[in-house]
Amino acid sequence: MIPFRKNLIDGEWVGDAGSRNINPSNLDDLVGEYASGDAEQARQAIAAAKAAFPAWSRSGVLARHAVLRKASDEITARKDEIGRALAREEGKTLVEGIGETVRAAQIFDFFAGETLRLSGELVPSVRPGVGVEITREAVGVVGIITPWNFPIAIPAWKIAPALAYGNTIVFKPAELVPESAWTIVDILHRAGLPKGVLNLVMGKGSVVGQAMLDSPDLNAITFTGSVGTGKRVAAASVEHMRKYQLEMGGKNPLVVLDDADLAVAVDCAINGAYFSTGQRCTASSRLVVTDGIHDRFVDAMKDRLAKLVVGDALDAKTQIGPVVDQSQLKQDEDYIAIGRQEGADLAFGGERLDRETRGFYLQPALFTQATNAMRISREEIFGPVANVIRVKDYDEALAVANDTPFGLTSGICTSSLKHATHFKRNSEAGMVMVNLPTAGVDFHVPFGGRKGSSYGPREQGRYAAEFYTTVKTAYTFAG
Ligand code: NAD
Repeated sequence: MIPFRKNLIDGEWVGDAGSRNINPSNLDDLVGEYASGDAEQARQAIAAAKAAFPAWSRSGVLARHAVLRKASDEITARKDEIGRALAREEGKTLVEGIGETVRAAQIFDFFAGETLRLSGELVPSVRPGVGVEITREAVGVVGIITPWNFPIAIPAWKIAPALAYGNTIVFKPAELVPESAWTIVDILHRAGLPKGVLNLVMGKGSVVGQAMLDSPDLNAITFTGSVGTGKRVAAASVEHMRKYQLEMGGKNPLVVLDDADLAVAVDCAINGAYFSTGQRCTASSRLVVTDGIHDRFVDAMKDRLAKLVVGDALDAKTQIGPVVDQSQLKQDEDYIAIGRQEGADLAFGGERLDRETRGFYLQPALFTQATNAMRISREEIFGPVANVIRVKDYDEALAVANDTPFGLTSGICTSSLKHATHFKRNSEAGMVMVNLPTAGVDFHVPFGGRKGSSYGPREQGRYAAEFYTTVKTAYTFAG
């Protein structure tokens, strides 16, 4: 039985005419059908969230704590089922799908706790007898627009703090992953959210997303996705004088120095560049390697790549699932062709693979002899494609690492305390890893970047309060 999932507007499941969700590991497998909202539904959802805001923002912290805790418990109890559904619709492996689901549960748990920890300051005024209170209040109606590559973790790390601090929400997930979005909303709805506090409007970005950007009644928008859409969010938000936060692309460097432990460096590079099929904003797509270790590193990478199992995301043996859809696959293949035209050497992979079922299977690709000026080194590919850029020493490695329009994350593999410390201080990225893959894993610390990767306050952890609250300074003279 194929499920038909509806949108949630003002506490009611609504919508008909739907979009189809196809499993990228098996194009004959229909995951489900989903309502595809229009601009009018987006406006209704915003109106419902606006009407629900006064009561929700003044609700007791225990009410918010209870909903978030309950959601965390249900996600944990159903982690295998939800993780499997995620892997089926997005194509990441079962281990990755279940891991991401567990992370979503941890995020809800963390923000349940944060509801009880919100505090302010009481400071003496420059005027004797006057007290100054600094408090944080909810921002209002928050629009949440998410990409397809972390279908449950990214919605979780936006929805959980938004609710914890008393905001109401209109949530528009990516078209490719409606099942995960619907599941998280269904869980929160049943956990006892009052009507209108959380609204789900699935549908096209150009229709539902655009209607959200055009609304004067959204007080804030948090967006994760591509740079192009991020710029639209920014322009529309400035037009409406609303708060906004953008998390966008990356072209993240992983520096490997001569003194690195080779096994650690290869582990970091394989995980960072190819896990989640390379479809991560934190992917290590530029491997910046010094002369002395270069050839050994490339040989070891080719050995490991040859052993990686690319296949059906739902097969427990699979290490790299399919690419998410036809258009992303075309983008990956186009960039592989561009890399060859630019003179890089395709040292491994890059070809389509046939498996038992029809799916978007691509052999992970490694370019060598790449330069940092090539398009494959400057533009985000968002697939299982990485370039080795050869450099002579640490100084050149740092310069190459920083020479990018992006600044999300970076990494270095070295046994030198001096270079590790210098890199942490001088890398122009929001997150820096030493002897670790470039992915940001911890859910309780800030996540975000610099330059073209991010705009606005950090997400996750206590730092999320910066975006989801607004500060009030109140003065009292009690006589
Ligand atoms: P995308 O920009 O195409 O879509 C993101 C969301 O925006 C989707 O929900 C889409 O429907 C919506 N959208 C599209 N057009 C819109 C419009 N006119 N108005 C409003 N909304 C609109 O991105 P994607 O392909 O889904 O995701 C991949 C991108 O996301 C990559 O660039 C990746 O690096 C980035 N990403 C960044 C982070 C991070 O934290 N920095 C995390 C994950 C993914």
